[in-house]
Amino acid sequence: MTTMLAARLVSPGQPLNIEEVPRPRPGEDEVLLRVEACGLCGTDLHLAVVGDIPVERVPITLGHEGAGVVAALGSGVREFAIGDRVAMFPAAFCGKCRFCLAGRHSLCDASRVYGMARDGALAEYVVAPARTLIPIPDGVSSELAAIVTDGVSTPFHALRSRGRLVAGESVAVFGCGGLGTHAIILARLMGAGRIAAIDVDASALERARRLGADLVLDASAGDPAKAIRAGFGRGADLALEFVGKVETAEAAIRALDKSGRAVLVGVGAGRPALPALLAFVGREQSVLGSFGMDRADIEDLLSMVADGQLDLSASISGRYALSDVNAALQRLCDKSGGVVRIVVRT
Ligand SMILES: [Zn+2]
Ligand SMILES: [Zn+2]
Repeated sequence: MTTMLAARLVSPGQPLNIEEVPRPRPGEDEVLLRVEACGLCGTDLHLAVVGDIPVERVPITLGHEGAGVVAALGSGVREFAIGDRVAMFPAAFCGKCRFCLAGRHSLCDASRVYGMARDGALAEYVVAPARTLIPIPDGVSSELAAIVTDGVSTPFHALRSRGRLVAGESVAVFGCGGLGTHAIILARLMGAGRIAAIDVDASALERARRLGADLVLDASAGDPAKAIRAGFGRGADLALEFVGKVETAEAAIRALDKSGRAVLVGVGAGRPALPALLAFVGREQSVLGSFGMDRADIEDLLSMVADGQLDLSASISGRYALSDVNAALQRLCDKSGGVVRIVVRT
């Protein structure tokens, strides 16, 4: 039997098991990938360390930000050849439901997320449906392609599809970790007017300032919504929340100008409150959820990286071997040395 190395979640709070498991075989419409890089993100911490996002079964191989090379094809796959370089959509969407048909893949009715419902890319090989794979343009590394699939596409989806950012509008970014940092880079690229960056971590705020945020606010020093009004002379047109906490979601809503949109990306069990109806309705404000990304978000971002329009050269804060994945998760947990994105190379 041919085996491979995989990082398996057995019990949240325990280190991942690095073990030899059987190498999977692709089904008819599937592709076997030799994984080259897999990004880690906050979701992996929820799964592996905190344990507040349930998985369908254990043990399960984690990793939903994968990129690699096609190593074998199912009998029905025509669109790829062995040796093609591809990035993985973070979930195996069905391609048939009304959301998939509308191109809104993160809303798929039958979605199966890697590391939660199917074995993921923190392994030497992974199997994925061919329809969910995106070709990597020449000149884009597997490492960058891997982080684009979630760490960059999630804030892009929030800015473009949900927030509908218009050039010149002001943007407030609540939470400047990996997603928020990329939101600042992308908002600049998309022609945002003034950008405010809000966090409690000094190194995250320093990074936001380097990336061109006009207003950098320590949320522990007072109400950031008031500070945005003071700094901009009015509220924000678009506020993005990447933290997943009630107080930051409410601050993002409070920070809005008339006609402003608050896009909530961070998830959690809390229930943020809306302003009084008289004020909320009278100001024509919106609160929107933004979940993941569409396939088109990843395709467009990979083109922007290939064309040199989107510079992600500072986005990879650490590279780890698959055998060191627990150290990589610990680094993400501690945020030691300032973390945008961590990549595991297999
Ligand atoms: Zn992720
Ligand atoms: Zn679907």
